[in-house]
Amino acid sequence: MARKLAAGNWKMNGTTAALAEVAALTAAIGDATCEVLLCPPATLISRMADMAQGSHLMVGGQTCHPNGSGAHTGDISAAMLADAGATHVILGHSERRADHGETDEAVAAQAGAAIEAGLIAVICVGETEAERDADVTLNVVSSQLAGSVPEGTDLSHVVIAYEPVWAIGTGRTPTLEQIAEVHDHMRADLAERFGNGAHDIPLLYGGSVKPSNAAEIFAVSNVDGALVGGASLKAADFSGIVSTLSAA
Ligand code: PEP
Repeated sequence: MARKLAAGNWKMNGTTAALAEVAALTAAIGDATCEVLLCPPATLISRMADMAQGSHLMVGGQTCHPNGSGAHTGDISAAMLADAGATHVILGHSERRADHGETDEAVAAQAGAAIEAGLIAVICVGETEAERDADVTLNVVSSQLAGSVPEGTDLSHVVIAYEPVWAIGTGRTPTLEQIAEVHDHMRADLAERFGNGAHDIPLLYGGSVKPSNAAEIFAVSNVDGALVGGASLKAADFSGIVSTLSAA
């Protein structure tokens, strides 16, 4: 059975003042029975990791370069993230795919590098609204999974996040039946490719998760947690999601 994970993505939000939320969060999640992860901007990783020491909170990056080092101005390697105190890295988020043209092949290379550096790769997939309307969601998700999860990978270092692009930051969510359909499909796809080990891969749902809708989403088949954007910025909201997942 997959472990449960509540992951927060701060995106390009947060300077030093935002670290006050981390102190509040670590205090609030003391008795969480699920894993808890926050992925701040790279500038905050090291300080957040220091603050998280001895607590239930883990810290991650939001992307990494496939190479270990070199002439790649502005990029960050997986080893650098690990050195800063990260244990995870979000890869292939739809905003990275859209803003930086990241392909499935690029995401697979990043994931390979992340896993090699000892990080857990949180690999994101999800359809656009046009793809949902065209009824090709399952094909899109299958193809992204096939292309973005590297071959011969250590499955204990893989997490998948299903994030419909049209549900991110919009306040809109798929129906519970739509979430179940995609998550069941992803589990079957991964099991076909990787065998029994696929059942231990956490499958997160992401897209406008908040304290008020978390319980019904966590009750959906094959949903092992959430990747949360906006509602991860405030400790009060995120800790509410963490405690709902702990109780699920
Ligand atoms: C995200 O950024 O991955 C996300 C799901 O954002 P939000 O929760 O704000 O929709």
